[in-house]
Amino acid sequence: MPSKVPAIGIDLGTTYSCVGVWQHGKVEIIANDQGNRTTPSYVAFTDAERLIGDAAKNQVAMNPANTVFDAKRLIGRKYDDPKIQDDFKHWPFTVVNEYGKPKIQVEYKYAVRRFAPEEISSMVLTKMKETAEAFLGAKVRDAVITVPAYFNDSQRQATKDAGAIAGLNVLRIINEPTAAALAYGLDKNLKGEKKVLIFDLGGGTFDVSILTIDEGSLFEVKCTAGDTHLGGEDFDSRLVNYLADEFRKKHFKELSNNKRALRRLRTAAERAKRTLSSSTEAGIEIDALLDGIDFYTKVTRARFEQMCSDLFSSTIRTVQTALTDANMSKSDIDDVLLVGGSTRIPKIQRLLQDFFCGKTLNLSINPDEAVAYGAAVQAAILNGDSSSQIQDVLLVDVTPLSLGIETAGGIMNNIVERNSRIPCKQTQLFTTCSDNQTVVTIQVFEGERAMTRNNNLLGTFDLTGIPPAPRGKPKIEVTFDLDANGILNVSASDGSSGRSRNIRIRNDKGRLTRAEIERMLKDAEKYRIEDERQREQVAARNRLEGYALSVRQVLEDAEGRVPFSKLEDARECCDRTFRWLDHNIHAKCEDYEYQLRQLQRCCDPIIGEIHEQPDTVNDGPTIEEVD
Ligand code: AMP
Repeated sequence: MPSKVPAIGIDLGTTYSCVGVWQHGKVEIIANDQGNRTTPSYVAFTDAERLIGDAAKNQVAMNPANTVFDAKRLIGRKYDDPKIQDDFKHWPFTVVNEYGKPKIQVEYKYAVRRFAPEEISSMVLTKMKETAEAFLGAKVRDAVITVPAYFNDSQRQATKDAGAIAGLNVLRIINEPTAAALAYGLDKNLKGEKKVLIFDLGGGTFDVSILTIDEGSLFEVKCTAGDTHLGGEDFDSRLVNYLADEFRKKHFKELSNNKRALRRLRTAAERAKRTLSSSTEAGIEIDALLDGIDFYTKVTRARFEQMCSDLFSSTIRTVQTALTDANMSKSDIDDVLLVGGSTRIPKIQRLLQDFFCGKTLNLSINPDEAVAYGAAVQAAILNGDSSSQIQDVLLVDVTPLSLGIETAGGIMNNIVERNSRIPCKQTQLFTTCSDNQTVVTIQVFEGERAMTRNNNLLGTFDLTGIPPAPRGKPKIEVTFDLDANGILNVSASDGSSGRSRNIRIRNDKGRLTRAEIERMLKDAEKYRIEDERQREQVAARNRLEGYALSVRQVLEDAEGRVPFSKLEDARECCDRTFRWLDHNIHAKCEDYEYQLRQLQRCCDPIIGEIHEQPDTVNDGPTIEEVD
C-alpha cells in the first residue's frame, strides 16, 4: 500500500508565505522553484499569463496596477471596514465595492477581472501546495494554515475558504504565535509552566503575544498586541526616502514622480537592509535609475538604525503594552521568542534584549520559518503521525474575542468569554420579552463592548414556532459551539416545543456562499490549466528560438567549409523563423511546434552535412568567389 502523503503546514503571510512538512521525524521547510524558503504573497496578472510568488514580485515595477499583494489585509473584511480605508489609498492596484465586499480589480489577458481576496490568497496557497508537491513527489490535500491570533470569525472562515479554493482540505486554522511556540516547545524539553513572549515582526505587520506553555504541551494565548501597519516594508520606505534624497542632492533629479525608478530603488533598498543585518555597510548599485543616470552609493548600519529609530522604539512600547494588558511584569517572562524576518535586524534584537534587562533572546529557530514549522508539526499531529517527538504535543488555542448575543436594549450578553480555550461549547438560557411571543431573533456578535452596536455582527437567525406563553415563561436554550479552528456554530432550541435551529453563521458578514466557493474552485482549476498551457507555450517558444539560434551559430562556424548556397538556404529559414517569432508573441503551442518541425526539415540535413565535414577549410568555393 502506498504510504500516506503527509499533511503540510502553511504560514500564509501578509508579505511572504512559507510551507513546511513533517518528514522522517523532523520538519522540512520547503524551498520553492527559485530555491527560496519563503515565497512573496504576490499574484500578478499580465496580458499573457498569471504569475505567483517571486515571479510576480520581480515584475512589480513594470506592472504595478495588476500586481496584487496584501490580500491578507482584506480577507474576511467588508469594503467599508475602517481598518482598510487607508490601505486603499496606498495600494497601486484597484479595490472595488461589490455588494459590500472588497474585490480586487485587475486587467488580465486584455479583460477586466475581479477577484475576491479569498481567491488571491488561494492562488498563493496553490503555489505553496505545488511547492510541497514538487518536493514530496505526490499530490497534497491536507493542510494546516496559520492566521494572526486577533483574526476574527469571518477572517478565519475566509482563510479556510481560500484553502478550499486552492483544493486543500484545511485540517485546522491555528494562531501564528501558537504555531511559533509549538515549534519552540518541541526544541526544548520544558518543565512546569512557562510564560513566553512572541515578538513577531514581519514584512507588514507586528504582533506581540504572550503565551503560557505547560509542560511543553499546552499553549494558550494570554494576550496579543501589535501594529497592523508596521514591518520590514516601513524600514524599506525609510531607506528609499533617504536614497531618493541623496540622488536628488547628487544629480538634481526628482525620483518621486517616477514609479518604475522608485520600485527599482525599493528592491535595492530591501536588499541593502538585509545585508545590513550581517554587515555594517551595504552598497547600492542601480544602473540607469533615472534619465540614464547610474546610482551607486553606500549606506551604513548606523545610518539605517538612525533613520528607523522611532519605528524600532515603537516596537518596545508595544511590548510594554502587551505586558500591561496581561498584567505581568517583564521579569515574569521566561522566554522571548523572535519570529518574522525583520527580527534579524541587530538593533531590534539589542533594544529588546535591553528591555528585558539583558535576557538572552531565543533565536533557536529561523525567524521567517518558525510559524510554518509549528504549522507543519500541527499538521503531522492532526494527520495521525505517530513520531515520538510529537506524540505528547497538545495545542490549545483561545478565542481572541468574546462571543455573545444581543439581549433587550441592545446589550451584549457574552456566551463565550474572550480567551476561552477552544474547542469549547457553552449554553445559556434565555426567554421571551413579550407575551405570546412566538418568534425570537437571535443576533450573534463578537467583541468586547457592552452595547452590541459597538461590536461586530456575525449573523442573525429566527427561532420560530414557540408556543404562545406569558413573557419570561419559555425557556430558550442557546448553544455556542466553537470548533478547533475558532469557527462558531450556534444553535437555539425551545424547551417546551422541542423546536431547534442550527446555524453556521449566516452569510451576511461578507462570507462566500457555497456556490461562490464552488465557482471559485472551478475558476482556480481553469487558471491552473491556463498557467500550465502558458508554461507549455513558453517552453515551445523557447525550443523553437533555441533551435534557430543554435542553427545560426553552427552556420556561422561552418562558413568556408560548406557551399555558400546551402548555408544561405538554412540562414534564410532561420531568419524567417525569427521574423515569425517577432510577429507571434503569444502563439499557440501547436504553432510553435509546427514552426519547429518546418525549420528542422529545412536545417537538419545541412547541419548533418556540416557535422560530417572535417574541421579544415575545404577546397570548395569561398564566399567571395560565389558572390
Ligand atoms: P516575514 O514576513 O516574516 O518573512 O518577514 C519578511 C520581512 O523580513 C521583509 O520585510 C524582509 O525584508 C525582512 N527580512 C528578511 N530577512 C531580513 C534580514 N536579514 N534583515 C532585515 N530584514 C529582513
